[in-house]
Amino acid sequence: MNILKRTVEFKPKSRNLFFHILTACNLKCRHCYINPEQHGTRTLDLSTIRTWLRLFSQTDHSSAIKPATDTNVIFLGGEPTLHPELAGAVKHARELGYASVTIDTNGYLFNNILERVSPEEVDYFSFSLDGSSSSVNDPIRGAGSFEACTKGMKEAERKGFTISSIFTASRANIQDLPNMPQLLKDLGVSRFFIQVIGIRGNPAHGHETDLQLSHEEWEKIVPETALQAAEMGLHCTYPRVFLGKEETFSCAGLVAENYFVFPNGRVYTCPLCEDYPLHAYEIRNEQLKKRPPLTEADLFPLQIPEGCVMNRIFHPGNIEYDKHGRPVRKIACCMLKEELLPG
Ligand code: SF4
Ligand code: SF4
Repeated sequence: MNILKRTVEFKPKSRNLFFHILTACNLKCRHCYINPEQHGTRTLDLSTIRTWLRLFSQTDHSSAIKPATDTNVIFLGGEPTLHPELAGAVKHARELGYASVTIDTNGYLFNNILERVSPEEVDYFSFSLDGSSSSVNDPIRGAGSFEACTKGMKEAERKGFTISSIFTASRANIQDLPNMPQLLKDLGVSRFFIQVIGIRGNPAHGHETDLQLSHEEWEKIVPETALQAAEMGLHCTYPRVFLGKEETFSCAGLVAENYFVFPNGRVYTCPLCEDYPLHAYEIRNEQLKKRPPLTEADLFPLQIPEGCVMNRIFHPGNIEYDKHGRPVRKIACCMLKEELLPG
């Protein structure tokens, strides 16, 4: 099979709205990035969700953000299916002309969600699964979560939904990653996202920084597994994480349109800032407003040899230097992806 490999370029006019409609969840994953102190504990009511969706839709011209030709929404939590009005939120996104609708779920599929939305309304159900068996997955995501998630995937697939899967790679499960493609293929998954554990939320506060992978650990397993997945017919995506010294660095905060919205009204454009009150925008009184300095947006233009400025500020331990004090390689934007497409 021919495999097409490409780096996914940031699309300036394509907007992605990562919409956390609540922060509550039935699980307590070791690597969860939700931080109630910073993101709130509120569950947005449907009327507020509708208003906030409008603020980011490409048809809204009162917005403080750049115009977009299309907008994709990803509903997140917490666990978004715990929200009793998720189906109403999906339908309203469609009415507003959102280009695609994705629901990121831990697989428990509460509130009978599969009966209340259709494959025409939801482009993807994206299931978080961190191991190919309960013995790997459950110590990370919680007892019973492997069974619940794979059951949910089968049900969604049977009802005609397109399903994708997200694997968060860490030292707790990286050795199991090569076992994932076959499981996902058997479950009918079409897209496989491998992501890297970040030092945010629980990993930062629970002193679990030992879960983070080194450059060598990542390079040894991830690209090869992605290729294996693509050869089985899965569309596979993984973050670049590192760039060679000669490769061009680009910060999504400057050139892309990604908005990470939390129920307390904070709107970030860089996920690495989500543990700090550095959000570039906020929603107040039903309006999206740019915040005055100092925010993440004031830091994006800083050009440094290490590449990503937020990694330099918040996670300097991620950067390796040579004996002259120069970075061995650049840290890529966390939103820069490699994509492998079956030919
Ligand atoms: S399912 Fe998601 S929101 Fe819930 S604890 Fe796990 S990572 Fe956090
Ligand atoms: S991760 Fe780094 S490069 Fe990407 S948006 Fe944030 S600051 Fe910019």
